[in-house]
Order: sequence, then structure tokens, then C-alpha cells
Amino acid sequence: MATNRTFTMIKPDAFGEGNAGAILKMIEEAGFNILALKLTKLDKATAGKFYAVHKERPFYMDLCDYMSSGPIIAAILEKDNAVADFRKLIGATNPKEAEEGTIRKLFAKSIEANAVHGSDSDENAKIEGSFFFSELEIIND
Ligand code: ATP
Ligand code: MG
Repeated sequence: MATNRTFTMIKPDAFGEGNAGAILKMIEEAGFNILALKLTKLDKATAGKFYAVHKERPFYMDLCDYMSSGPIIAAILEKDNAVADFRKLIGATNPKEAEEGTIRKLFAKSIEANAVHGSDSDENAKIEGSFFFSELEIIND
């Protein structure tokens, strides 16, 4: 089923290197509308909660340290087929495997510090958007 919303974060590596503006420009040029946007910094426990699905993975503690290492930008995006189209725009988790022209190919440092997050399903887009934004903070018309 085509979806129309996804959730993203510009991760600490990308924000810290001053790439947030360039990444938001790519997102807008790809046809996504920004419905909600926030600059924030996660503490380790909150990063752990967000990525709880990965808590059994060997990289989980490192991931929580990394995601709480600096500011991030969280956003809800709207477009036809948003989840799949956004995953295509950001490219593979490992930037070495990401296609040319994708956000991760251009800006990611490593498989961990990979510049951006993108929801992997409609259901998770909703859960993740609600993790950061109340209904009042989301443009709805
Ligand atoms: P995201 O959920 O952040 O959009 P993804 O869906 O492409 O990324 P996941 O498998 O959900 O990838 O992994 C979540 C995050 O955990 C990755 O984006 C990356 O920051 C980190 N990660 C994933 N695999 C590894 C790994 N093998 N080593 C270190 N970090 C990893
Ligand atoms: Mg994921």
C-alpha cells in the first residue's frame, strides 16, 4: 500500500559537520513536504528507547552513545509512497553499499555514523513520529 508519511532524523555526525541544510535541501528537492521539524539532543536513555528494537544487537550500546553524542534534527515528511521513496533517497545502511547520489553516499561516515534515519514501515513511521512530536506540532492541512 502506498504511504504518505515517514519520519527522519539528521544524525549527530551530519548535523555536527554542518550538513543539515544540504540534507534538508535534498529532501525538499525530492518532493517531500516537511510537516514537523525540531532540533534536539537525545540523552542515552532516550536514544536507547528509540532504538529499543535493536537492543539485542552487538552494536546497540555504541549506537546509543553515538545517537546521544550531539544534536539531531527530527522531522515528519509527507509524500506519496513516503516510506519507500525516502529509503531510496537515503540509500543503504552502509554508505559503502549506498547508491551514488543518495544522502548516505554523499554524507555518511560509516555504517554507524550514517547521516540520517528513515522509518522502515508505515507503522514505525507513525510510532517514531509520535515519539518526537505531539499532534499539535504536526502540520495537518
Ligand atoms: P535507520 O533505522 O537509522 O534508518 P537502517 O534502517 O538503515 O537505519 P537499521 O538496521 O535499522 O538500519 O540500524 C539502525 C542503525 O544502527 C543504523 O542506521 C546504524 O546507525 C546502526 N547500525 C546498523 N548496523 C550496524 C552495524 N553493523 N554496526 C554499527 N552500527 C550499525
Ligand atoms: Mg532502521
